[in-house]
Amino acid sequence: MLKPYQVYNTHSLSLCYNDYLLLQLLLCFWSSLFSLCLSLARNTKKILYLLQVAHKNSSMAKSICFCLQKLVFFILLSAIVSHARPPQVLPRQEPSYLKFVFNATDLPSEDYYDYIVVGGGTAGCPLAASLSHTFRVLLLERGGIAYGKANLMTQDGFLSTLVEVNAFDSPAQAFTSEDGVPNARGRVLGGSSAINAGFYSRADMDFYKNSGINWDLKLVNESYDWVERAIVFRPELKNWQSAVRDGLLEAGVDPYNGFSLDHIPGTKIGGSTFDSFGRRHSAADLLLYARAANIRVGVYASVERVLLASTTPFSGSRQSAIGVVFRDSNGRYHHAMVRRHGEVILSAGAIGSPQLLLLSGVGPRPQLSAWGIPVARHSPYVGQFLYDNPRNGISIVPSIPLEHSLIQVVGITEDGAYIEAASNIIPFASPARSVFIHTPSSPLYLTVATLMEKIVGPVSSGSLRLGSLDVRVNPIIRFNYFNNPVDVRRCVNGTRKLAGVLRSRSMEDFKFRDWFGNRDFRFVGPALPVNQTDEDQMADFCRRTVSTIWHYHGGCVVGKVVDGDFMVMGMNGLRVVDGSVFGVSPGTNPQATLMMMGRYVGMKIIRDRLRYS
Ligand SMILES: Cc1cc2nc3c(=O)[nH]c(=O)nc-3n(C[C@H](O)[C@H](O)[C@H](O)COP(=O)(O)OP(=O)(O)OC[C@H]3O[C@@H](n4cnc5c(N)ncnc54)[C@H](O)[C@@H]3O)c2cc1C
Repeated sequence: MLKPYQVYNTHSLSLCYNDYLLLQLLLCFWSSLFSLCLSLARNTKKILYLLQVAHKNSSMAKSICFCLQKLVFFILLSAIVSHARPPQVLPRQEPSYLKFVFNATDLPSEDYYDYIVVGGGTAGCPLAASLSHTFRVLLLERGGIAYGKANLMTQDGFLSTLVEVNAFDSPAQAFTSEDGVPNARGRVLGGSSAINAGFYSRADMDFYKNSGINWDLKLVNESYDWVERAIVFRPELKNWQSAVRDGLLEAGVDPYNGFSLDHIPGTKIGGSTFDSFGRRHSAADLLLYARAANIRVGVYASVERVLLASTTPFSGSRQSAIGVVFRDSNGRYHHAMVRRHGEVILSAGAIGSPQLLLLSGVGPRPQLSAWGIPVARHSPYVGQFLYDNPRNGISIVPSIPLEHSLIQVVGITEDGAYIEAASNIIPFASPARSVFIHTPSSPLYLTVATLMEKIVGPVSSGSLRLGSLDVRVNPIIRFNYFNNPVDVRRCVNGTRKLAGVLRSRSMEDFKFRDWFGNRDFRFVGPALPVNQTDEDQMADFCRRTVSTIWHYHGGCVVGKVVDGDFMVMGMNGLRVVDGSVFGVSPGTNPQATLMMMGRYVGMKIIRDRLRYS
């Protein structure tokens, strides 16, 4: 009998940052009130004596009355404050899918399944949940679970999750591409959807036309609906996001499309996977749809390679995926094997899936041979056509307090630029120790507001190659940002739009006034070029300030590595279903499309197998 995964690190309560402050204030207040009452009780004799004296002395009577009035006022105020806004403590119920989640150490050393899904991420969770309705499914995830970890479970923990990283087990795995741009990938159940900024928007129509997949649009819409019913919310805009919406409209990014999950030109409020309490919902929550009796989820299960075998004894015949080898956190190896007509499906993401194909002997022959990996199939494009949408923008310290917000409002221009905004409260450490301030015991916090743009596409592409035979080590990655002039032109156009937003009336409130009464922004990092008509200066800004928006994709692109049914070309029983198959980005942020795709492929497999059996 297998023992379900235990959550050792559970916080039964978790608080938003603001609620935490409010709670601190209330605690302070109540404790002062308590000590006041205590000292009143201790000094009852003295007070009675004072009251007797006061009876004879009217000025003392007045001051005692004043003190008592103050006490009553404090009691009333506290009652009002605690009643008006109780601290929002976020209760956490243990998700019911945990009953079929197991630490890989508790999984058998060999077992058989109809479908083995590698990677419990954005596409992998909905895929496994859907398949479990008809088949016996194993979902293997190298990370742990988010439940019980406050930073992962709340919007306010977004930056901490990205900063608190280590080589082998942090929920975010950091990597830096050869372009010098720091990046991150999810390593936790829910994948990158469990560490991302939560913005949710369906793909644009061009994606369905150009992705190389013959989409059944009815099933596409049903699959989106399935996802949205469970984990998508309408965000509530506060000051920064509202100002950006107004600024975009003033800058001509119109019409205003209100709240919409569709990717349409103009300005809109998109969906969010954070609910109104700031709690994160991720692809892991789609496991709630699974049929518990048919599914096992193994966490801390690092898949090392896909097991391949020839289907016929003739040399040169097609190889089939017959299972996978994975390693648990004690270093013990396990074999998961597929039953007849079963499949291995890689959903390990745009970095993980090409890496696993290479480690399994599917990839460019020279690279495999150089690492001593037996070549199962020479597939020259594994790891090629890897893209990352460049992000450029500005950050300011605003002159007024701002809320903490991740992406909620977006501006979609016709010429390939896409504008988003965020505002973050970040800990601030002075580089030099001040002579006046001793090392502060608690950190100082600073609000930084950001306006950014990503370009559609991109056209520039890079590649990935093995850097180690250890699957836990990131491959070597290069994105070649702005290699293609089309991308530079789009970035310049987008940057000019950002300048338009900064010039809008809506942004005035965030400027500081100098000694002479002039108002201007306080930039953190580079400001936009002064002469925005100068093409070269603008292009230089794009190249100099490039960072990632984490929408990297490709590496097992449709038509190059997989066919229109996501099957690895030239192989049997092996598919790839995740962001690595995208040769074109979904226009918008990709998580909605990936979750839809997981559900979509699961339903397609079930329908096709029923049709042909
Ligand atoms: C910081 C950040 C912010 C983002 N913000 C947004 C946003 O606001 N909106 C949006 O739409 N998109 C956003 N994205 C992008 C989006 O989250 C990703 O594109 C998407 O989640 C990728 O999905 P995937 O299924 O391809 O891969 P993932 O979700 O990354 O899933 C891959 C899974 O496979 C596992 N895995 C890998 N290798 C192995 C192995 N060998 N064995 C076992 N398991 C393995 C990984 O641990 C991971 O869980 C963001 C991404 C990041 C990183």
